[in-house]
Parts: sequence; C-alpha cells; structure tokens
Amino acid sequence: MNSPLTRVAVLGSTGSIGCQTLDVIRAYPQRFKVVGLSAWNNADLLTKQVAEFAPGIVACANPAALRGRIGADVKRGSITDVACADEVDIIISGVVGKEGLEPVMQALLRGKTVAIANKEAMVMAGGLLQEAARKGGGSIRPVDSEHSAIWQCLAGEDVASVKRLVITASGGALRDLPLAEMEAITPERALAHPNWSMGRKITVDSATLFNKGLEVIEARWLFDVPYDRIDVLMHRESIIHSMVEFVDGSFKAQLSSPDMRQPIQYALSYPERLPTPLKPVDFAGMGSLRFEPLDMERYPCLGYALAAGSRGGTYPAALAAADEEAVNAFLTGRLRFLDIPELLSDTLEGHVTTDEISLEAVLAADAWGREFATAWIEAR
Ligand code: MG
Repeated sequence: MNSPLTRVAVLGSTGSIGCQTLDVIRAYPQRFKVVGLSAWNNADLLTKQVAEFAPGIVACANPAALRGRIGADVKRGSITDVACADEVDIIISGVVGKEGLEPVMQALLRGKTVAIANKEAMVMAGGLLQEAARKGGGSIRPVDSEHSAIWQCLAGEDVASVKRLVITASGGALRDLPLAEMEAITPERALAHPNWSMGRKITVDSATLFNKGLEVIEARWLFDVPYDRIDVLMHRESIIHSMVEFVDGSFKAQLSSPDMRQPIQYALSYPERLPTPLKPVDFAGMGSLRFEPLDMERYPCLGYALAAGSRGGTYPAALAAADEEAVNAFLTGRLRFLDIPELLSDTLEGHVTTDEISLEAVLAADAWGREFATAWIEAR
C-alpha cells in the first residue's frame, strides 16, 4: 500500500510522549514527516531534534534559549502557531497540563486531526474540544493506552450496542505497599512504576490513581459514554489496556506490551496498522493475567477525581489544576504524599462551578485551583 506522507507537528516534543513519537516517526521516514516541534524549556534536546528532523516551524516557551542554535530558515512561533501551521496534517500533543488546551482547540477549529495525549486538556474541556472539532471539521484521536484500546475495540461497532467501558489500572508504584507505610513515601518510591515508562507527573498520578480518575473523565468525552457506564478494574500486568462490553454479553479487549509507542503509532497511522519492532506479548511465558477490584481506601485520589467528573461543570478543571500543584510540591519536597488527597478533598469542597461552560470559565477554574492549592501548600 502506497500511503501518502503524513505531516506531523509534535507538541511537547522533548517530553516522554514527544520523544516516543519521534521514535515511531524515525522508523517510517517515507510515511511520516515532522513539520513542527514545540517544547517547554529543554532547548538542548529541542536543538538536536530540529537538526535531525528539520521541521519548518519551532516553538519554545523560552525562545531566547534557541538564539543562534537553529538555522534562520526555521520559522519561530508560539505553540499555537505550530499546531495551526498550514502544512500540518496531524498534531500529536504530549504537552502536560493546561498549556496544551488553547493550541489544540485552535487546531480543531481549523479542521486538523489531533492525537491527544494531553489528558488534562480533555479533562478540563472535553466538551468544548468536541464542539470545536464539530465546528471546524477536525477530529480527536486518543493516544493514552486505555483510550486507544477502547477506540480499537469500538472499530466497526455501533455505539448504541456498547453496554459499558472497562478501563484497566495497574495499581501504580505503591499497589502492594502496606497502608501504614504510605506516610513516608518519597518521590523516588512513587516514581518507580512497575510496568510503564512515563513522565514524572503522570507517574505520581498513577501511584495515587488520580490518573485513572482523569482517564474516566477523558473516556466520557472521547466516547460519549456516561459515567455510570464506565468502570475501573485492577489488572496488574498492563497487558489488557481496556475493554468494551457490548449489550449481547460480548467483551472486546485490546492487548499489547505496555509500551506507549504502540498507541502513538496507531494514532498516527490510523486506520492502517504498521509493523513494529516492539516486543510481542509472551502469553505462554506470562502464564496468567490477573484482575482484582480496586481498593478505594488505598486510592482516595481516584474517588475525588470521579466525584469531580460526576459533579461536572468546572470541577474537573479546578481539581486537575490543584493536583498538578500538589504533585509538583510533592516532587520538590514541599508536600507529603498523604497531603495530596487531603488537598484534593478540600479543593472539591471549596470550588464553586459556573453554569455556563466556556474556555474562559475553564481557565478561571484552573487558575482558582492553582491559587487554592498554592495557599494550601504554603499553609502546611
Ligand atoms: Mg493511561
């Protein structure tokens, strides 16, 4: 099959998703071409990526850091300029946090395809992003492994025949730790994920399972399935990435090795599947796959995220912002691990949503969540 060249803009190119995206692209130079890159502040790595992939446009949150290091033929712009550039067919957004929201919304309004790994953007404003896609003719593809799995299970199916979505959870780095030892968790311990290689923020969110709550909210917006038909199931091996149950009692599941390059590649090549050098699943060597109910006492942050989702409005935006501040404070030694759920609980109690959901309302809730969390952390 002679597929046309797909022109890709990578937002957050120096982060975990960005680097793994470039890995995928590197293996298919005749299939994908990097036309735009944007990064936060890792100018060294961005400079190397520009030299290797020769994009037409580049954005860096600290533009001065690029001065004299990349050729004058490479255009500089904002992250939104990169996302909306004419030559871009598909954007993959590996940006962490709210910085990814505006560029993705603008790209959808211009009819672009957006492969979204920036779950905070979906959580904060999933309804607004879907509306932007409808208005502009753009489309949203999942990248997160769970949502990619559900997307793959839904291929060729009628949404009306879906009974429920089952999102799997590994349980994160602290799944077997006695609850009494949670008190003294260090960032190093929380960052030691048993199955996945990911960025620091999401790895801590996986240890608290706040990440899983965000994924439930993300699934609600990606697949338009109500919260009472989305369940979370603990599955230690991270081989089944999620499942769909249909009304006739059938389940479909998607299985692969826990490697983000699989869902990234599928999001780029869809509907085609491309061969990959990734390690296949060794079922015989593995022997069994295990499933357990979730211990909600161990994971209070999951409960708070689910509560924010079902309250709706700007609750998810406020809570996600407070969590970002909390995790950052934990990683820099300003907050204890067990303070994170306490802060989230107080955030939920303190927040007041608006009736009308707009980008301004969502960003205001984000700012409120950050201020609330910062004051809370300082008071500790
Ligand atoms: Mg995930």
